[in-house]
Amino acid sequence: MAILVFVESAEGKIKATSIEAVAYAYQLGDAVTAIALGDVEKSELEGLGKYGAKKVLHAADAKLNQPVIQAYTNVLIKAMEDEAADILVLANSSLGTPVAAKVAVKTGASLASNVVSLPDKSAGFAVKKSIYTGKAFAWVELTNPKKVIAIRKNAVDIKEVSGNAAVTPYTVQLSDSDFAVKTLSTEKATGEILLPEANIVVSGGRGMKGPEHWSILEDLAKALNAATGCSKPVSDMGWRPHHEHVGQTGVKVAPQLYIAVGISGAIQHLAGVNSSKCIVVINKDPEAPFFKAADYGIVGDAFEIIPKLTEAIKAV
Ligand code: FAD
Repeated sequence: MAILVFVESAEGKIKATSIEAVAYAYQLGDAVTAIALGDVEKSELEGLGKYGAKKVLHAADAKLNQPVIQAYTNVLIKAMEDEAADILVLANSSLGTPVAAKVAVKTGASLASNVVSLPDKSAGFAVKKSIYTGKAFAWVELTNPKKVIAIRKNAVDIKEVSGNAAVTPYTVQLSDSDFAVKTLSTEKATGEILLPEANIVVSGGRGMKGPEHWSILEDLAKALNAATGCSKPVSDMGWRPHHEHVGQTGVKVAPQLYIAVGISGAIQHLAGVNSSKCIVVINKDPEAPFFKAADYGIVGDAFEIIPKLTEAIKAV
């Protein structure tokens, strides 16, 4: 079973979510070819061998440095043909999701997004996917021989297998119609760790009382190498930028650790965090609903607890 994995990159490095996609593909079947588009460091591409890619196609055309859905879709379809791959695996990211949908429509493939399990082959080819913003799961069977699987962060454990991958330059004829929308440039909203990519998120709510108190959360985030997030009212009030707003109407995160400080735990906030591996809630109200979703809870005043927690972490 030949599998193609689309790996995303940023600043020459492969994204962690794409490494998971390679590890997922390897657990699915062993003939795994990855494809990277645009400028990516060679050592990064070779390193995908550690996670199970035998070969890496590198379409290094500078026009592909900026993500362009149409062009990326066409390159991936061509690579699937060239590699005789029936399955495309990719990350369920803001880039991966629209690319997955377009590839599936153009090739007539079965598409499953938000996938959290390896397939159950005893039930045809059924995968478990997260639905209703993480409040439920569905098993869906992919009946077409061609399949596109977009996997959610933390869907599989990453197992290292030895050896470098062989990197092969890959050239595709691109036409003007592939670039009907051109990304001229991109810039990060902050220099900090991006929320959807973060393994640890420190998030603050209205209980933080005002933007002037955020420095204690930023200190904690720095000590943990974490991204910062917030509840909706916090970004609505302009205490924090909108791209940090987590929840049903904001960013959905699935980190290893989500620390919620002074957030009550409204259902709309939980919808964005309930795929986190471990949730720690710090709230002075023992009745705060968030405690029901927490793995660990601390009842107390954030302004006393957070500085002590940060000091303790720095001391480790
Ligand atoms: P509050 O509910 O006011 O909670 C503040 C918490 O801080 C309280 O639990 C309090 O006990 C605690 N606290 C106070 N002082 C301290 C202290 N010193 N130390 C420790 N704890 C303290 N919300 C989102 O977050 N994301 C969304 O995507 C989202 N989408 C929405 C969509 C819709 C259609 C609607 C109607 C609402 C949405 N909301 C969303 C809003 C949501 O319903 C809640 O109003 C919001 O999440 C509450 O934010 P909060 O927990 O920061 O504030």
